[in-house]
Amino acid sequence: MYDITSIYQARSVDDAISALKSDPEALVIAGGTDVLIKIREGKDAGCRLVSIHELREELEGVALAPNGDVEIGPLTTFRGCTFSDVIRATVPVLGEAADMAGGPQLRAAGTLGGNLCNGITSADTASTQMAFGAILRVRGPEGEREISINDWYRGVGKVALAHDELLVKIVIPKSHYEGWSGHYIKYAMRSAMDIATLGVSCLVKLSADKTVVEDLRLAFGVAGPVPFRCLETEKAMTGLPIGEAVKQIGASALKEIHPRDSWRASKAFRIQLARELSGRALAEAARKGGAQI
Ligand SMILES: Cc1cc2nc3c(=O)[nH]c(=O)nc-3n(C[C@H](O)[C@H](O)[C@H](O)COP(=O)(O)OP(=O)(O)OC[C@H]3O[C@@H](n4cnc5c(N)ncnc54)[C@H](O)[C@@H]3O)c2cc1C
Repeated sequence: MYDITSIYQARSVDDAISALKSDPEALVIAGGTDVLIKIREGKDAGCRLVSIHELREELEGVALAPNGDVEIGPLTTFRGCTFSDVIRATVPVLGEAADMAGGPQLRAAGTLGGNLCNGITSADTASTQMAFGAILRVRGPEGEREISINDWYRGVGKVALAHDELLVKIVIPKSHYEGWSGHYIKYAMRSAMDIATLGVSCLVKLSADKTVVEDLRLAFGVAGPVPFRCLETEKAMTGLPIGEAVKQIGASALKEIHPRDSWRASKAFRIQLARELSGRALAEAARKGGAQI
């Protein structure tokens, strides 16, 4: 049973924002796959909801802007992301990451916006969006502002979003994806319907002859309280022959991660995973970019 006091079905983004402004306790619901679980567990029992679920015209879909930026509506589902022609042509690794969340039903309901706004470290699309340096467009009563995903996370379950603000667009600028190839690995105890024990997303830009790492991005989920990038490792791998970088990246990443013990897995196991999977993710990203490895 769901203990919900009321649901307000917003008619537009601005209408949702006014509803949130006038009710400081109300919660936003999009696909509901996180919100409803919390209500059922009793954490948000008796809540009042503002639903943005029907605002598909304003908030759903993936488009290529005239300047080549990829623009993702936050109501785009995991499935919608994976099957988008724009995603496949520009940032296919994001579609692959979205395809690893839950099972088919979950992927048809859960949204990319919810995956970022829940502030959870295990969110399967978050590390890849972080690696791409996504720009998040947020709207509130005073208008719109943009924030880099690198400044988004403020602690476990906390993001840089005021109560009366909505995430209205996720932008991956052309300059952040052009020339890059990427690979995401989710390690979970089961191959479906399981939250990541560890997730790693690696993007690489190769030299013209495909032998040297010209630039690199490495982002983790579940290797700390929120998703994050390994900036020192990114620098250290730049300029290395690709084979050498694959050998070194895991050891380097270990200096930057801070996983913990949980009922899902021990800290020691997560450290082992991070070391091993960083190299595998880089090797696969490089292969996708045309390296012989
Ligand atoms: C069985 C099951 C399996 C799951 N497996 C996975 C998995 O493998 N990988 C994974 O990453 N996740 C998984 N999840 C978690 C969940 O599906 C995802 O986090 C999903 O992306 C949430 O999206 P939603 O639209 O359902 O969010 P909701 O539940 O509607 O909202 C989540 C949070 O985001 C806020 N919010 C949503 N949209 C906006 C917006 N546009 N602006 C402001 N705030 C907003 C809500 O207020 C809420 O705080 C699973 C969940 C379930 C129930």
